[in-house]
Amino acid sequence: MPEPASHEFDVEMRVPALPDHETAEIVFPTWAPGSYMVRDFVRHVFRLTVTDERGRPLARERLDKQRWRITTGGRAFRVRYRVFAFEASVRTSFLDDSHGYFNGTSVFFHVEGELGRPCRVTVVPPPRSGWRVATALRLVPGARATYAADDFDELCDAPFEIGAHETRAFAVGRTKFELALYGRHNADVRRLIDILKRIAGATGRMFGGFPFDRYLFIVHALPVATGGLEHRASVTMDVAGLSFEDEGGYRRFADLAAHEFFHAWNVKRLHDAALGRFDYTRENYTRLLWFFEGFTDYLAHIIMLRAGVTSDRDFHRMIAEDWPKYATRPGRNETPLDELSFEAWIKQYKPSENYVNRAVSYYERGLWAGMALDLELRLATGGRRGLPEMFRRMWDRLARVGWAVTEQDVRDAAAAIAGRRMDRFFDRYVRGTDELPLPALWRRAGMKVAARAEWDESPKPPADRDRVRARRARAWTGIDLHPERLLVRNVVPDSPAWRAGVTFGDDIVAVGGVRVNPATFAKRVGDAAPGARLPIAFFRRDLLREATLTLAESPARTWSIAADAKAPARAAAVRTGWLGRGR
Ligand SMILES: [Zn+2]
Repeated sequence: MPEPASHEFDVEMRVPALPDHETAEIVFPTWAPGSYMVRDFVRHVFRLTVTDERGRPLARERLDKQRWRITTGGRAFRVRYRVFAFEASVRTSFLDDSHGYFNGTSVFFHVEGELGRPCRVTVVPPPRSGWRVATALRLVPGARATYAADDFDELCDAPFEIGAHETRAFAVGRTKFELALYGRHNADVRRLIDILKRIAGATGRMFGGFPFDRYLFIVHALPVATGGLEHRASVTMDVAGLSFEDEGGYRRFADLAAHEFFHAWNVKRLHDAALGRFDYTRENYTRLLWFFEGFTDYLAHIIMLRAGVTSDRDFHRMIAEDWPKYATRPGRNETPLDELSFEAWIKQYKPSENYVNRAVSYYERGLWAGMALDLELRLATGGRRGLPEMFRRMWDRLARVGWAVTEQDVRDAAAAIAGRRMDRFFDRYVRGTDELPLPALWRRAGMKVAARAEWDESPKPPADRDRVRARRARAWTGIDLHPERLLVRNVVPDSPAWRAGVTFGDDIVAVGGVRVNPATFAKRVGDAAPGARLPIAFFRRDLLREATLTLAESPARTWSIAADAKAPARAAAVRTGWLGRGR
């Protein structure tokens, strides 16, 4: 990092002699495990030179975008290059005069056929910077800022944080944890540590201990939150640094931490055979991302409950807020979960305009499928066993095969927990596109569930409700606008706007003959009632057009869910098993 303000890492790779090899191929990764998209990291590589150990240039040929063949004559060689690191995300690399952060996948070449070799990295911070290093890799005794990995997978699985970050250490039992916190924030760090400690403890109890001796949380406090990326013994979480002005900031931090930490078991160890040892040059396909990501998303909520970080009321509120979003997504029952997973590379992460109409995120459908399976298992066992027990069983049983997991293993584990085959569940909701029956399952689990339209008069609406506003929320066009603009982002299939031919990118200017802006669009729609014919004017590629919509009734509903005090004993037992504590 000789010039951190240039955002360029200066990298030298030293490769030992490969005696029987006249040539060697060096290969740059194209994706980062855990983030299923081809990113062509090699586009950030500049000033590549290849020499022997005495600095004499070696002949080289570029074979494709990310691969060079070098004529080495079997001797040791050195590759030197710069990497432009200017993408501040958990899955990429970034360098400026305040810190450096890198994932091996966007900084290091590997040598073809040699992925299994041990690697060492020496970090040289900028001159006189005083920067420190945080990484999950082990420090080589006696060497300065030199870290060792058993192979390229481990090297790439341990991001590096280099800078003047705050550090904190804590322990859960005999296992050591560290927090490396970079950036401007308004969080109470003691509270962050308390959250991490509780979450680590609750997850460890679920699996009967930790599969590592040491674990590192790298947290970047940035202007906006962009998520996390999981590793075997560390995680990077990018959070909104100034979001800790209320409980919501701590809750989002806990949710992200619980999700990522659960990955230390699910996906980093329990994994599809296609996900490790990795092929860094191309897509690595799995049909199980609903299990690795969706079930993880769901269990993060259960872990937060068990950790005492959230309350039953928080959990109920999450359901009441998130279920209606999911239940009105037009594409939720279009593509099966296993296919959503397989196609993640080309669809979820490269969505076309109609993605929301024909697909849904495997995180989101996967979360609700996880909750549905948990409830089905608890209904089958009188509340005694559910998804946490299913994971524990898979963890214990699949250790003998290095935790390689298939869909059949998941089906078998579910059957073992339930005491009967659960294939119908997987056929309908994972391989099939049936509507997830959550409201019915919640009721059977002793919950009181209700959905009401804002304009409903019975049962009696809350006294403080604005009746005029409520009545005006009823008319619906099916148009989803870009935030703060009048550009059509989506049109729900078979909605009034869909039938009138409105489409993506239409730029609305008037509703009912009146000019509108982002603040008045919904008001002018609300002036009309369902069934009314409403003309709208819009520009489509600079040509003025008109369409007349026959308005329908809005599908929006407000949900409420709470424990039903009058639930039968059996349902109450299921509920206690589901949300119970003290395990
Ligand atoms: Zn995840």
